[in-house]
Amino acid sequence: MIRELLPELERTTGHLQVSTYSKANALRQFCEHRAVHYGQVLEYVDIEAVRSCLKTTRYYQGVRDTDAFHCNPLQLCQTLLDTLQSTGVRMYEYTALTRFSAATDGWHIETPAGSVHARKMVWCCGGYGGAEFSGLRNRFLPITTYIGVTSPLGPPLQDVIRTSDAVSDDRRAGNYYRLVGDNRLLWGGDITAFGRHDPAQIARRMAQDIAGIFPALALDNGRVPIDYAWSGLMGYARHMMPLVGPLSPGLWACTSFGGHGLNTSAAAARVVAEALTDRSDRWRLFSPFSFSWNGGAVGPAAAEMYYRLMKLSDRWRAFRARRATPSEPIT
Ligand SMILES: Cc1cc2nc3c(=O)[nH]c(=O)nc-3n(C[C@H](O)[C@H](O)[C@H](O)COP(=O)(O)OP(=O)(O)OC[C@H]3O[C@@H](n4cnc5c(N)ncnc54)[C@H](O)[C@@H]3O)c2cc1C
Repeated sequence: MIRELLPELERTTGHLQVSTYSKANALRQFCEHRAVHYGQVLEYVDIEAVRSCLKTTRYYQGVRDTDAFHCNPLQLCQTLLDTLQSTGVRMYEYTALTRFSAATDGWHIETPAGSVHARKMVWCCGGYGGAEFSGLRNRFLPITTYIGVTSPLGPPLQDVIRTSDAVSDDRRAGNYYRLVGDNRLLWGGDITAFGRHDPAQIARRMAQDIAGIFPALALDNGRVPIDYAWSGLMGYARHMMPLVGPLSPGLWACTSFGGHGLNTSAAAARVVAEALTDRSDRWRLFSPFSFSWNGGAVGPAAAEMYYRLMKLSDRWRAFRARRATPSEPIT
């Protein structure tokens, strides 16, 4: 869909998902299942091929999607903005909804600088929405995740990462990364319910993460040099599926895409737009996933506990894999 709508968006093709323990048969079956049931062509990648393009003993086999692409999300937003404005849509950045009330034939929406009358309203606040979204705010939890971008790393980076694919691993709170301009590595990872917002602390955490997988990149006195680090929020519903559908007549939700990302949010936005213009009821594909309560005050603690347990189980699995298959030097 993004390909059709935004042909001018710069895209790099290829996504490689790698496993942190040996599971050749499961991955082969996964590729077969996708081909038979969804017509999706995925390529099974054996351990030698994975380790020839990612110089680490932490990874085993992988699955490659040559049809997938990755892009600069800021450029995506800018391209979307330009496309919408060219069709006459008016955009108001930095304009928060602070209150709303039902009005004749729609909604009265207040912002700090003025008010708007809308016949229909869609809430797509991600993990950032607060009490102003009454009725929705207690259906999701804001969950924090993190990014670090290294300094330009020169030949050592080209030596350890020999692919332009976006790479992710198979852990629940795993890493995802790609090469970006100036020979830098953009590295994402970790997930917490109680956020960490200090960039220096995030940079330290991301540097440790990278060095754990690619020790050869610890170029700055044993540390991976990080130039930029930040965190962001994602909305997560209890069932970890998006919240998409009507909340009341003329009021819709299209939110909570944590764990799903840009592709699913674009697909959901399309089906909501089709519903608002009476063109389809495909939004019902999301209706099995109810707007259930987020656990209130204990929700964040329960989520944090869940993520910690997942991280422990990820580590235990990787530890067992390393013991079962002693690492061989990589050339
Ligand atoms: C650090 C990080 C890395 C990620 N990496 C990837 C990745 O590599 N690939 C991928 O596919 N996905 C990734 N994601 C997930 C992806 O960003 C989200 O799934 C996607 O942005 C969800 O889109 P959204 O429109 O629902 O929410 P958002 O993009 O979060 O947008 C919600 C918007 O609502 C606004 N808002 C909130 N309250 C109000 C209000 N009262 N009035 C007006 N506006 C309001 C917010 O300011 C925000 O701009 C990442 C997320 C984070 C945080």
